[in-house]
Amino acid sequence: MSEDSGKTNKQLTNDFISQPFSNKPYFEEIGKPMTQAQFVALANQQLSADVSTPLRLYVHVPFCSSKCFSCSRSSTVPSGSGEIEAYLDMLDLELAAVASQVENPRALDQIHLGGGTPNLLSEAQLLRLVSSIEKHFLVTDDTEMSLAANPNRVSSGQLALLNGLGFDRIRFEVRDVNETVQRSLGRFTTAEMLSDVFDSARQAGFQRITTDTLYGLPSQTIESVAESARAIAELGPDRVICKAFERRPDLYPNQRNIVASGMPSLADRLVMFQTIADTFNGAGFEWVGLDCFMTASDPVARAAKDSPIYRGWDGYALGQRGVVLGVGASAFSELGDVVVQNTPNLKTWQDTISTTRHPARMQRVLSHQDQLARDVLEGVFTSRELSDIEMSWFNAETGVLPKLKHSGVVALEGNRVSFTDNGKIVLRQMFSGLEPLYGCAPEV
Ligand code: SF4
Repeated sequence: MSEDSGKTNKQLTNDFISQPFSNKPYFEEIGKPMTQAQFVALANQQLSADVSTPLRLYVHVPFCSSKCFSCSRSSTVPSGSGEIEAYLDMLDLELAAVASQVENPRALDQIHLGGGTPNLLSEAQLLRLVSSIEKHFLVTDDTEMSLAANPNRVSSGQLALLNGLGFDRIRFEVRDVNETVQRSLGRFTTAEMLSDVFDSARQAGFQRITTDTLYGLPSQTIESVAESARAIAELGPDRVICKAFERRPDLYPNQRNIVASGMPSLADRLVMFQTIADTFNGAGFEWVGLDCFMTASDPVARAAKDSPIYRGWDGYALGQRGVVLGVGASAFSELGDVVVQNTPNLKTWQDTISTTRHPARMQRVLSHQDQLARDVLEGVFTSRELSDIEMSWFNAETGVLPKLKHSGVVALEGNRVSFTDNGKIVLRQMFSGLEPLYGCAPEV
């Protein structure tokens, strides 16, 4: 346990177990239909409001070689390469439709391929996808290009191709390296294989390698989590994002394969997160925001205390949130105070694209209270100074701050809320899974 904590994890669990955010609905439960005209009008409004607003593109690739039991993303196992080709056909139509109707599109500031498993695509399909993006949007040497990748699907040739196409940031999905834990999720990769993959990515020219670790998984123990975190640190990633596993079989039927009784208790989950944090801190990583560990030389880690940062595809980024256009089944777009999701149903997405050239979409219009919640969520995640109104909201609506203060796990300097290690551990648990509601880089 960290020195700054006067409380045990059991006490912290008791203090925060009834916290108000835990019962928030998921986006799928509260989104309302959005027409193409509304989508285009909003995108144009956001892009015209401030010409310096960055324009970002998210492309969802909803295919994986198998479906992990823990998965909460929109992904399916394709019946063959024909299904992927058909998807790329539709993606091209959606990219064309979005690009042609957005007035004054500027050069893309960032492109991210998420999934699913973008690197399940063959080299020819990856080339085709990038050509499609470049055909419809302005991509320059300054456009940051990143992708999520399954290390089991990587080859040196694929990494070289991706880097040649302009990708220099990659996020390998790892979760946990313990064999028993991985098998309980229906997946498996060895530490030796991961080491080879990380080395190959460096050799291919990738400048930033991000990975992840999940806690709260079935079969995990505090000892196994510590061992896994040490093994991940030894791989030499630039960043590690640490997320809590939330079991929602009502929304994700594949999670029925995970038996609730085999999952760690809330108190154990807090210890697991603390163990992971201690391991990465001990390995020389900087703890940025609530859930990201970065090497000390990372520009975001160096600037995090004094510069604006926002929730990005691979943890955090310097600068401002932009307009995000999401294409593909289940992709999220962020248009100011409206968060939009393309239908996650692959068939519905394909049918609507082929008939109307635009997908079925659901929107969540953020009310004033939602906007405050989003800003506080991002502020809390990035430890930035909260405004007076945000502080009032935080105090009044959540009741969290007084409790945290009372528990001695939060410090206030003016409006800057500084979380001690235990404060971060509690808040990461509390804010788990809320990002999609407010448009904070949902894939992260
Ligand atoms: S967890 Fe990752 S690899 Fe597994 S099914 Fe989901 S997106 Fe695919």
